[in-house]
Amino acid sequence: MSDTKAPVLPHIIAGKKILGTNATQRINLNPGTAEPISSVPMDDVDAAEQAVQAAAAVFPAWASTPVGDRIQPLFKYKTILENHVDELAELIVQEHGKTLGEAIGSVRRGIDCIEHACGAPILMMGRTLPQIAVSSSFCRIDDGCGVGIDSSVDRLPIGVCVGITPFNFPMMVPLWMWPMAVACGNTFVLKPSERDPMSTVRAIELAHEAGFPEGVLNLVHGGPDVVNHLIKHDDVKAVSFVGSTTAGKYIYQTGCAHDKRVQCMCGAKNFSIIMPDANREAAIDGVFGSAFGNTGQRCLAGSVVVAVGDSASWLVPGLIEKAKAVTVGRGCDKHTHMGPLQDDAAHSRVLKYIEAGIEEGADLVVDGRTASMPDAGCFVGPTIFDNTTSNMSIVAEEIFGPVLSIMRAASLDDAVTEVNKSDYGNMSVMFTDSGHAAHRFESTVQAGMIGINVGVPAPMAAFPFAGWKKSFFGDLHTNGEDGVRFFTKSRVTVRRWI
Ligand code: NAD
Repeated sequence: MSDTKAPVLPHIIAGKKILGTNATQRINLNPGTAEPISSVPMDDVDAAEQAVQAAAAVFPAWASTPVGDRIQPLFKYKTILENHVDELAELIVQEHGKTLGEAIGSVRRGIDCIEHACGAPILMMGRTLPQIAVSSSFCRIDDGCGVGIDSSVDRLPIGVCVGITPFNFPMMVPLWMWPMAVACGNTFVLKPSERDPMSTVRAIELAHEAGFPEGVLNLVHGGPDVVNHLIKHDDVKAVSFVGSTTAGKYIYQTGCAHDKRVQCMCGAKNFSIIMPDANREAAIDGVFGSAFGNTGQRCLAGSVVVAVGDSASWLVPGLIEKAKAVTVGRGCDKHTHMGPLQDDAAHSRVLKYIEAGIEEGADLVVDGRTASMPDAGCFVGPTIFDNTTSNMSIVAEEIFGPVLSIMRAASLDDAVTEVNKSDYGNMSVMFTDSGHAAHRFESTVQAGMIGINVGVPAPMAAFPFAGWKKSFFGDLHTNGEDGVRFFTKSRVTVRRWI
């Protein structure tokens, strides 16, 4: 597809904007208006090579720059981003379709990661244990001092790191990765989603205004050819990926086979459990916001709700009433509650799952296909299926759109059994007033992120973020202490003075 109206987005390599040559271009449309808004080079492997070379060339100097100096551009960057929240949010609305409020929220959560990375001087600190042993051949026990052996462990940068990111948070997810990576002394190549990279490009331009030396932070566009070049490259030491389970599993296996350290935060199917004693308003709001916020395009979207006991009697009517009151429209319109899906492929996939739910025998109690919405664009309204079961595709598979499936269970243990049948384990939440029930849920549910009376248990940057089962491949999660460990290698020194 080609269209001259869509501006071609540049790579940013060694601080310079570079237009890809001879690359196949992908044209992206505004999902709210169907107008072309960006053109992205898809197979510019030469640019990927240049980006890795630029990052490798400056790594020794950057790694030996004191950590206190490395974080100075991050402090400036935080202020610059705060002054550009509205501009970045508007780009996100245009290319992704989020409402303005959702887009602003996503930029702010990204800034949280920068603040966390500014703590690198403390977060990277090693540990020391003096007199961990005594040397037998030189032992001076009699003078009370001994010839002791001291041990310490340091955390050091690892080299060129690569980030591969998804479409659903084009501004925030890259900030899970590169600020901590560069604060720890690494250099970075970011490969953003090809579907909505305008806000990512602008964010990396602004990072250069903050004063990062050329080559420390690079951005290269592309699809699988470019990703393959990066994850197999000898000079790349670590790969952080966020996206679907299919791509993540491939990138994990391929990156590991090429000796990289790899973490892959992947797809999800998340369950919310509602107990009869839950605060009704909080439970309905929590489930609704989790299922339909960001038009269901969140890895933390609670897209299945399990109503325990008689909670369905108030939960189901409450959800239906809220769904029917939603205004579906363009993200830039202040009356809009829910924006479009991000592209035509996502729109078709969601419509296909609605058909599948009907064929599988679920009760379609709110049909998003009949909601009032603009003609052009990738719109579908909130959709609710009741009386669903774990063998239905709408319960087992990630739809990544505004479709909520309701299941019923007789007890909390039955509900947790349903949750734990899932192949995924990104997050699970429950709503209850009972500490005992909450404790039982926490002890038995299989998910990497869990919430009590919280619809979207998104950890702040100081805590690790990732799931279990098919929602994650790797060892160390992103953000928090795990993020510091992922972007550093440890070295132990054993010392003896004779
Ligand atoms: P995606 O897997 O299609 O794309 C993610 C990235 O991988 C993109 O940069 C893309 O170019 C690249 N990619 C895709 N297919 C590839 C292939 N075959 N070979 C090499 N590279 C490839 O994901 P998406 O549709 O952009 O994002 C939505 C998915 O991301 C959902 O499954 C969602 O659950 C997941 N997600 C997970 C988290 C998390 O923390 N677990 C957070 C956000 C999104």
